[in-house]
Amino acid sequence: MKLAIVVGHNARAQGAVRPDTGETEFVWNSRLAKMIDAASKDFPAIDVKTFFRTPGGGYMEEIRRVYGETDDWGADATVELHFNSHHNPSATGTEVLSSGSSSSLRYCEALQIRMLAALGLRDRGTKVVRTGRGSASLVSGRAPAALIEPFFGSSPKGQAATDEPHEMRALARAILVATQDAFL
Ligand SMILES: [Zn+2]
Repeated sequence: MKLAIVVGHNARAQGAVRPDTGETEFVWNSRLAKMIDAASKDFPAIDVKTFFRTPGGGYMEEIRRVYGETDDWGADATVELHFNSHHNPSATGTEVLSSGSSSSLRYCEALQIRMLAALGLRDRGTKVVRTGRGSASLVSGRAPAALIEPFFGSSPKGQAATDEPHEMRALARAILVATQDAFL
């Protein structure tokens, strides 16, 4: 099966910043995407390709463009990489956004279980979003879609759970295992 990794945000507008390393969502998740790609050698049934959002034409056009590319590639599932942020540093935990379709929910629930096991953060659940933040990413491609928020970059707990290479590798692997759980 083909798994499209979509890196959240873009090089020009990079999303939230984690204060511990100064990395943006775009930079941190570009690294995570490379780790998912590297780990995929242990998952011969999953063909991984990374897609980047590019600025231009407005937000909706940016989302339509990248999911048009995942459709053209023939993706069987898509996962868009983010991390959460809040002005209150005590906000913490792992969540996944779903369109609410049965195949998206199945994928999101598998991702949530595996990410919770990998990071050990609070379970904020799978959230169905039909409007607002992130919702276009869940319905713009043909494939079952997920948008992950594994941790809060603004949280000391979220930072501590994700600042070591082995922790990022565990998260990368969790995403691949969840893909296997849901689709293979
Ligand atoms: Zn984001």
